[in-house]
Amino acid sequence: MPKKLSPTVKCEVCYNRYKSLVGHVKKHGLTVKEYKKKYEGAAVVSSLTRRRMQLSRLRYVLKKRGAKPEKYKTEKALKLALAHRGRKHTPEAREKIRKARLGSKLSKEHKLAISAGLLGHEVSEETRKKLSQVEFTEERRRNISQAQSAEKSNTWKGGVSRHLYFGKGKYRLKKIFGEPLKCFFPGCDKVEGKNTKSVDCHHLDGDHENNPLDGSNWLPLCRKHHMLVDGRLRSSTPEEVEKARDLASKVHADHMKENYVGEVKAYHE
Ligand SMILES: [Zn+2]
Ligand SMILES: [Zn+2]
Ligand SMILES: [Zn+2]
Repeated sequence: MPKKLSPTVKCEVCYNRYKSLVGHVKKHGLTVKEYKKKYEGAAVVSSLTRRRMQLSRLRYVLKKRGAKPEKYKTEKALKLALAHRGRKHTPEAREKIRKARLGSKLSKEHKLAISAGLLGHEVSEETRKKLSQVEFTEERRRNISQAQSAEKSNTWKGGVSRHLYFGKGKYRLKKIFGEPLKCFFPGCDKVEGKNTKSVDCHHLDGDHENNPLDGSNWLPLCRKHHMLVDGRLRSSTPEEVEKARDLASKVHADHMKENYVGEVKAYHE
């Protein structure tokens, strides 16, 4: 089966997907040319659009060369022509190309994107292990926060970061902590979609950029308990905050002990 073509293309700076990046990369202060250079020829249009452009160009070329109309009328005929265009490589050349490809290294960012399950590539267990050790670079952090503030004011709800780490529709969070999401604070009855619109995701170590994909730094909490644990609730004393944090760590540990599912790599698995 041919690979499924995507109607969108991912921005390598902010990881959002768009039909085209031609207008979008300006938000990152880049021209299309600069973007392509910086991200080694990354696509700026979707694979679907690219295919359509290829086909229409081919249609034009075939027509110009005086090919019979039936050769370029149907998509099937065009695809056939596309598959057979150009010269075939000799076995030696093919081997050379294969070797060259083996040597080309992925950028750290690219690897990270794969490990975060954002590119949808299938990788071996061993590769995954290696990739899980790839860290965010300072530059990547800056780029992401810049893009977030440029595109929408990023409160936690609806922010880009949620999509990045928690998964589309909090897919990853739900896999790890159960669906519907609920506040894990002992005695709290808040359930997302039932008696509260949205449940927050607290970062146990207070670092929002520390997002292991197994949820080891996450804990779903309702807004009130999230504020308490973060120490943002004005009415609470430092002792109360301290106690709440201990409780949060404890319920997290208990949950993980019973329900640990490991790293959730992709949105759909
Ligand atoms: Zn972007
Ligand atoms: Zn928090
Ligand atoms: Zn709560």
